[in-house]
Amino acid sequence: MTKKIKGRRINWLLLFGAAGAGKGTQAARIREILEKHGLRVALLATGDLFRNPPGTLDRGVVSQISENMKKGVLVDDAVTMVIAGEALNAKLEEDPDWVILDGLPRNVFQLAAVLFAMTSIGLAHFFTFELAVADSLLIPRLQGRKTCKSCGKVHPASTDLAGACPKCGKVTLFIRDDDSNPKSIRNRLGDYRKTISSVLDALRKLISTLELKDRFSVETVDGSLPEDSVTDRIIKHLDLQDQPA
Ligand code: ADP
Ligand code: ZN
Repeated sequence: MTKKIKGRRINWLLLFGAAGAGKGTQAARIREILEKHGLRVALLATGDLFRNPPGTLDRGVVSQISENMKKGVLVDDAVTMVIAGEALNAKLEEDPDWVILDGLPRNVFQLAAVLFAMTSIGLAHFFTFELAVADSLLIPRLQGRKTCKSCGKVHPASTDLAGACPKCGKVTLFIRDDDSNPKSIRNRLGDYRKTISSVLDALRKLISTLELKDRFSVETVDGSLPEDSVTDRIIKHLDLQDQPA
């Protein structure tokens, strides 16, 4: 087991984007495509993780997390990194070829922790994509969008709350607290705009300082395009024909 871990070379894919930019949707689509190529994929979405925190977590911490989420405020960085680190560790047991991070890192502190984890766990290639979408488009996307409690899929606001989930057929659609609250939407979008440029700048600086261009890439994709066009643009960068089947 130890020997296998030592030899591990993982491709890391990070998705950045404001709330409603489509990170969760794209993460699921990319995972499906990679799996069709016979690749093992670990997907870690910190928002999903915090919505279903590990049962072993202190109840005070759990209620603090849900308070923050309701308000659209980030969970404490150190708490985030420990909880995400444990969840990632469990997923690494499956020996993935790819790790997709959705919603992590959200600032430079978290980026540093992710870089440390990636380089110590094993790194083949590192891809980051920012899904760029204007706030004027994000606000109506977020307001009233429906999330399925059973399968996690997010559906547009036009979806009937009382109806069946168009993906899994279960009648378990709900509106997330943070999507029904205008203040929470403003907080999340404001936070994202404040932090994303420093994260991308730090990454670009790292790539040029250490001459990592052949293994690291930072791309921006127009997230206002239809879902499948966004996926196509991301997949085009991943050089899938070079992957072991
Ligand atoms: P969205 O991108 O729509 O805001 P997410 O499901 O990614 O939704 O995140 C929901 C909430 O979970 C965030 O508003 C924040 O409170 C918390 N959260 C998710 N990821 C992180 C993170 N990396 N650091 C701190 N808090 C996070
Ligand atoms: Zn569903």
